[in-house]
Amino acid sequence: MRAALFHEHGGPEVIRLEEVPRPELGAGEVLVRVRAAAMNHLDLWARRGLPFAIPLPHIGGSDVVGTVEGTGQRVVVNPGLWCGRCRYCVQAQEPLCVQYRILGEHIDGGFAEFVAVPSTHTYPIPDGVSWEEAACLPVSYGTAWRAVVTQATVRPGEDVLVLGASGGTAIAAIQIAKLAGARVFAVTRGTENVDRVRGLGADVVYDRAEADWSAQVFRDTAKQGVDVVIENVGEATWKGSLRALGRGGRLVTYGATSGPCAESDLRQLFWKQIRIIGTTMATRAEWEAMLRVALCGELRPVVDCVLPLEQARSAHERLEAGGQFGKIVLVP
Ligand code: ZN
Repeated sequence: MRAALFHEHGGPEVIRLEEVPRPELGAGEVLVRVRAAAMNHLDLWARRGLPFAIPLPHIGGSDVVGTVEGTGQRVVVNPGLWCGRCRYCVQAQEPLCVQYRILGEHIDGGFAEFVAVPSTHTYPIPDGVSWEEAACLPVSYGTAWRAVVTQATVRPGEDVLVLGASGGTAIAAIQIAKLAGARVFAVTRGTENVDRVRGLGADVVYDRAEADWSAQVFRDTAKQGVDVVIENVGEATWKGSLRALGRGGRLVTYGATSGPCAESDLRQLFWKQIRIIGTTMATRAEWEAMLRVALCGELRPVVDCVLPLEQARSAHERLEAGGQFGKIVLVP
């Protein structure tokens, strides 16, 4: 089968298209013929070899949809793999599992014609849902669901600020926060993206290049600040995120695309009694709840572009440059 893989860590230039054997099935696994696979930032981290090394060569791709070989069933794959036995799994906190692995990050994923996955992690998708849209759901919408619903516990009428609002997971967070009944503020870059983010339903959108957004958020909330900030940018926005939070606010972070070592003014933390909550991926229950809502048509992913698998290197370059709006999808 054809696969986009890398033999060494590095920049996008290490991505190659090669002919490799089909994956061998382990116990409880099914072979999925991949119809689409979306890119995530974790594909970039895995390729760069940070923060840990993985067995090489490696096939990325955590967001996989396709047909099960043998039955032809259309499925989407939950990419979070947990042991089911450790104390966190027993408490139904699968993303905290001591052996937690992500399809496409720790083990070979879906940037290929076929991928082996546990049958317990495949979910049927109706004929009316396109491959490209369904491929956008697993990582971004699962992560955003846990961030907004479970970790931030967003309630109707609350003010929620979403940073980095052109990324797939931030777009998902905006849509989920609106569904939860929040007033949504968002920060993005460029007038075109401002219009697009408004089109997603965000109530107030700031252009990071134009505005001192943290001061404007304060002004636009009658000097109260927001109840919740959903962060994925890190170093470049962290200080502003703390400033924009109101008293008793919650800051939920699931990424650090601009760098991981942000400075905090601790006085803001204790004066405003802010809670900082880390989050990643989703529990089985959260992921299944997200999927039910999404497959009803209540959450509509934004596809930036669809590229053939042969252009996997271009897909890496495009995501790395940060100019995309929504998800980059590869089709074998
Ligand atoms: Zn476990």
